[in-house]
Amino acid sequence: MRIRVGHLYPDYLNIYADRGNMAVLARRAGLRGHELEVESVSMGDELRPGAHDLLYVGGGQDREQELVAFDLAAKAEAAHEAVAGGAAVLAVCGGYQLLGRSYRGRDGVELPGIGLLPLETVAGERRMIGDVLLDCEWSGRTLAGFENHAGRTLLDAEAVPLGRVVHGFGNDGESGFEGCRVGRVIGTYLHGPLLPRNPWLADWLLAQSLAHASHGEPPELEPVGDELEAEAHRVAAERARARGGRF
Ligand code: GLN
Repeated sequence: MRIRVGHLYPDYLNIYADRGNMAVLARRAGLRGHELEVESVSMGDELRPGAHDLLYVGGGQDREQELVAFDLAAKAEAAHEAVAGGAAVLAVCGGYQLLGRSYRGRDGVELPGIGLLPLETVAGERRMIGDVLLDCEWSGRTLAGFENHAGRTLLDAEAVPLGRVVHGFGNDGESGFEGCRVGRVIGTYLHGPLLPRNPWLADWLLAQSLAHASHGEPPELEPVGDELEAEAHRVAAERARARGGRF
């Protein structure tokens, strides 16, 4: 099948080579006989609900976020429609913050978010930087990645995190939560990029995208040899452990 990805603002939000996540999805789709078709949806471009099986937003600093926030806000209705129709979403760091209701940067300026995730973010004094290890109960797996953010993200009371912090700061350095997940929508602070060392999440996203593309259920994907990926996960998890953590 063809998996259609809408990559939001690839020319603005691509810190730590977050675009590498797309390479992982393309390769893993290809190994199963599927084709990933990535379309850039940037400044002034129309977001057509139903046109994409997966929407992807990378990370960026406050400056890039300020540049895209109002354009993204103009796409909010289309994004909500896409998600209501079953499209999957992955948003990283700066992109994650803009999926909430709002982001207030260090300069005190409040940017609108698109409210796809039940949370809001306010920048604090201290940056939260380093390797992270998460326990994702909903999948029985762990995620390893790297965080670097000043924003503190507070989830609404009923919101579900992507995972619990084993090592690192996570959303706010206090709650023990990292990221947020609503149905097929995932937001996280994990860069690295995220997917090369966490192939189970790449496959989960592919399965959700295929479900949207086929108007059916998420398929079981055949396993592929993940020795290198497992090694990358092990090394990153070890670094996070060595860093220690507050949780
Ligand atoms: N501007 C955000 C912060 O520092 C996001 C940074 C990022 O994407 N790495 O909180």
